Amino acid sequence: AQTEKDLLYKIHEIANDYFQEILWDAEDGRSIGLSYFKERELKDDIIKKFQLGYSPEKKNAFTAYAMEKGYSKEILEKSGLSIFPENTPAGVDRFRERVIFPIHSFSGRVLGFGARILKSNVKTAKYLNSPETEIYHKSNVLYGLNQSKQSISRKNACLLVEGYMDVISLHMSGIENVVASSGTSLTTEQIKLIKRLTENVTILFDGDNAGIKASFRSIDMLLTEGMNIRVLLFPDGDDPDSFARKHPQEYVEKYIENEAMDFIDFKAEILLRDIGNDPIKKAEAIRDIVKSVSFVQNALKREVYLKEVSNKFGLSEQSLFNELDVQKQITQ
Ligand code: ATP
Ligand code: MN
Ligand code: MN
Ligand code: MN
Repeated sequence: AQTEKDLLYKIHEIANDYFQEILWDAEDGRSIGLSYFKERELKDDIIKKFQLGYSPEKKNAFTAYAMEKGYSKEILEKSGLSIFPENTPAGVDRFRERVIFPIHSFSGRVLGFGARILKSNVKTAKYLNSPETEIYHKSNVLYGLNQSKQSISRKNACLLVEGYMDVISLHMSGIENVVASSGTSLTTEQIKLIKRLTENVTILFDGDNAGIKASFRSIDMLLTEGMNIRVLLFPDGDDPDSFARKHPQEYVEKYIENEAMDFIDFKAEILLRDIGNDPIKKAEAIRDIVKSVSFVQNALKREVYLKEVSNKFGLSEQSLFNELDVQKQITQ
């Protein structure tokens, strides 16, 4: 028998085909959606590889299309694709006048969508995503994993970026071992998905304050799952998407290879930059970095890292070990 979940998968498949058809074949799709992707320098084959689409301006274009195919109001509402406000039996599409990024499961089924507004001057959220549904749990999904899993296995390494466009631009540059947490902070479930393929993660976040904060949170989560972590922040103003479009593949690969730092060096550099000569700030910074070390699963590695912290911050190893013991008691 067909379950509700089966129906939800089916609706997402239909919606995915629909948004792509509009992008390639409809006049508004081509002149607005496809033009947008072309402005961002995406090639046809990459647009197809990621099954990008466009949702028209009309209030209920997809909802009407799906209802004509026999899908009920109830299931459309549950899918998150349609909304039925009171006195609006024809429904309203969640995504209107946006370019569409389908979000796939590990095995390639469409679970939900991200949708980007075209103009940057409009005062609504830049990206709109599917709500949580019976098939889409955002904390269990990594954008790009389906398209990147083979390369991640082959290279035994995974690049972690912030956004949809970062994944897509890196693929277009030939760098295919990349997934995005899509702006939310990384979860244990997402890390376990990566861990099926590799234990080596390089964090490539935006070089702004939000990116630094997100990288600190992600580091502790990844350490807890026993992952090896390197980190690279792009120059302020750049993200992997803009960087990959500015430079040839070989340069980007070398840049990542050479500039990514072990998490301990990265964290020390950022923290030391901020403390100046303030002893209180220095003590806080040391507590912060030792806390990260307390998440390292292997005792030998913990010791190696503490020695590095001792060198960088000019403190005795003994006092750092004492602090580590305190931190471990707190975190366990
Ligand atoms: P673009 O290059 O298209 O402007 P971006 O990916 O560089 O977008 P960021 O602002 O760096 O955008 O955000 C990173 C990611 O966070 C996005 O790709 C998206 O997945 C998510 N995101 C950003 N803004 C929002 C939002 N308002 N609501 C939900 N998710 C968002
Ligand atoms: Mn950002
Ligand atoms: Mn960005
Ligand atoms: Mn960007």
